[in-house]
Amino acid sequence: MKKRVYSGIRATGRLHLGNYLGAVKGMLALQDEYDCIFSVVDSHTITVPYDPKTLKQSVREIILDYLAAGLDPKKCHLEIQSMVPQHIELSYYLATIYPVSRLEDLPTYKDKKAQYPKYVNMGLLYYPVLMAADVLLYKGELVPVGIDQEPHLEVMREIARKFNGMFGQTFPEPQRFKTEGEYVPSLAGGGKMSKSVEGSYITLTDDLETIRKRLAAAPTDSGQIGGELPKEGGVANLFKLLKLLKLDVEYKKFEQDYRDKKIRYTELKEVLAKAIYEELQPFQEKRKIFKEDPKLVDDIIDEGNRKCLQMADRTMGEVKKKMGLI
Ligand code: ADP
Repeated sequence: MKKRVYSGIRATGRLHLGNYLGAVKGMLALQDEYDCIFSVVDSHTITVPYDPKTLKQSVREIILDYLAAGLDPKKCHLEIQSMVPQHIELSYYLATIYPVSRLEDLPTYKDKKAQYPKYVNMGLLYYPVLMAADVLLYKGELVPVGIDQEPHLEVMREIARKFNGMFGQTFPEPQRFKTEGEYVPSLAGGGKMSKSVEGSYITLTDDLETIRKRLAAAPTDSGQIGGELPKEGGVANLFKLLKLLKLDVEYKKFEQDYRDKKIRYTELKEVLAKAIYEELQPFQEKRKIFKEDPKLVDDIIDEGNRKCLQMADRTMGEVKKKMGLI
């Protein structure tokens, strides 16, 4: 049996470079060799404030992004999480064996609480349990996601171990599949590139002018120039992006310019903008083709969901039997 792979992305806006380099590149690397399920996790999306009128369209946009990026429905299953209700069903059973206190301590929960102090709902606390159910429902062993998801992977493994200990060997302990771009920095100076932080990201559908504008707004005043490159802040992040885009020659040149106190950030940003656009152009062309063929996309989604429902049913039968429910 081929190893199972599972990963998902929330439907909260267009995919950005962080999602692409941290998660989608990993998915692309695995789809040839493994049995892969890639999901749009809409049930996770609704744990923060959202607009019900546009949710379905946002889900669709992520599917288009997946297809344009090169996820191939002949090689992997594309799923919409809420269409496979067993995710929610399994998450409830798993929740009954996991302590609330551990969930309250997770950094992602604390971050979201701070970000939306008036929207601290049960779903937010429950997020890592549902994520564990997402992967374990398919007995996933490899999970291509960014480094920010590592605490959630740890929860997943704890849940799998606990379930196996209580009810007999059922689930593997999933590992994160790491990519070079496992942490793409924000353009806003600190932290990671994120959909929910305005000014932090470049989306995969941005044109060259938009990319230029977004980079122009990225801070570069690190308060120093000359000597070693700073380890964090705006300048450090621009250099990290050069590295992630494999612009090694340019990296060395700008590093020398920095040492020699003659670096011109407009020049560096232009090099970056062009390289990013070049990377994104084939994606954007492919996206147009899928967007113009809604029937094809509908069929891909239907087929993916159908296959996933079958796999999910098998696991649920086994879980309910082991837990003594049937
Ligand atoms: P966001 O934080 O932008 O809302 P999601 O939480 O939907 O994105 O994450 C989707 C996937 O993209 C996850 O695998 C996550 O680890 C990855 N990811 C998100 N931001 C980054 C980043 N800046 N660098 C690397 N991977 C990232």
